[in-house]
Amino acid sequence: MTALTTTATSIRSAEVLVSSPSRNFVTVRITTEDGVVGLGDATLNGRELAVASYLRDHVAPLLVGRDAHRIEDTWQLLYRSAYWRRGPVTMSAIAAVDMALWDIKARLAGVPLYQLLGGASRSGALVYAHASGSDLASLGDSVRARLEEGHRAIRLQVAVPGMGAMYGVAAAVAGRYAYEPAKRAGLAVEEGWDSARYMRHLPGVFEWARAEFGPEVLLLHDAHHRLTPIQAARLGRDLEPYDLFWLEDCTPVENQESLRLVRRHTTTPLAIGEVLNSVWDFRTLIQEQLIDFVRASVTHAGGITGLRRIFDFAALYDIRSGSHGPTDISPVGMAAALHLDLAIHNFGIQEYMEHQPLAGEVFRTSYSFADAMLHPGDQPGLGVDYDDVAAERFPYEPAYLPTARLADGTVHDW
Ligand SMILES: [Mg+2]
Repeated sequence: MTALTTTATSIRSAEVLVSSPSRNFVTVRITTEDGVVGLGDATLNGRELAVASYLRDHVAPLLVGRDAHRIEDTWQLLYRSAYWRRGPVTMSAIAAVDMALWDIKARLAGVPLYQLLGGASRSGALVYAHASGSDLASLGDSVRARLEEGHRAIRLQVAVPGMGAMYGVAAAVAGRYAYEPAKRAGLAVEEGWDSARYMRHLPGVFEWARAEFGPEVLLLHDAHHRLTPIQAARLGRDLEPYDLFWLEDCTPVENQESLRLVRRHTTTPLAIGEVLNSVWDFRTLIQEQLIDFVRASVTHAGGITGLRRIFDFAALYDIRSGSHGPTDISPVGMAAALHLDLAIHNFGIQEYMEHQPLAGEVFRTSYSFADAMLHPGDQPGLGVDYDDVAAERFPYEPAYLPTARLADGTVHDW
């Protein structure tokens, strides 16, 4: 099996493309001997160049000459044979190769990728949008704008009085409600954090939101790994009257057992796992039914092959998908997520934070939004093309997520 014989579907080249149309994206482009092209997303927010190097220096040379059809074999080779397994850099690199190979296979078959994953299980993927505000009035405006766009599920984030700038809260830029959490700068911006103030403020926000927008709209919230287990348990209980679709990232996720304590005290549905990379990272969370939604992303958890493995495992325990999908998933990664969302049975919801218009100049996508759902479209493959000429205008620029410190200067979880 080691001797490589060149055929029409042998991999001729594997390129790593770094561009920054509104934010940094790392894209893998694999081309076969007969000229079929596949794209994959390897964007790791704030550590983009580490993945680009991993791919260029260590992965691309392994791919040239291999048969592009052998997706599982390539995945296992990259996962097992590196000796060093898992971790965000490795798994984002594997993800991009995996997506590109699925893209090629579906283009060769002349079908949209979801057809190769079992076909459509639904008419579209329900998405949730982001709404935020510096106070209830501006949060209300943000929610109303989302409802007018046709969304039915909305994540609410709001500033906490006395805490200043805060993650997930947009700033009004030139009259447009713009929000890009990774700021372009050589160093990360520092923000403050106070869990006690946050926990006192948040239940009133959701009480207001239910009174203002009624019982039908699906409301979500992200606590961004910032609470201790007992704090998370208390917050989940305090939010129960307001019927959240989910409370996300309530504790730092490395300690899967923490969710046992949270779960014992609240029936608010829990979603977690956007920083996890493999099915092993979810073992306790899923087997003990400590969560209701898996937040892993196609870009950071080993691609379609890796993420499907996690979703299939979750399905055995009645746990549904809820893929991470902010702008640090490129349009290629978003398309891949949507094909998987459409095909799996245990789909829950898909995060959708729309990319800035500049991203559309480099990535030509075919997914579309209607009736609160995204559909990946019916072009062969993933349905995304990459414009090299446009990308030339947007070279890499360092950009980082903010960091969080307590009032006394202690570094806090982000
Ligand atoms: Mg989150």
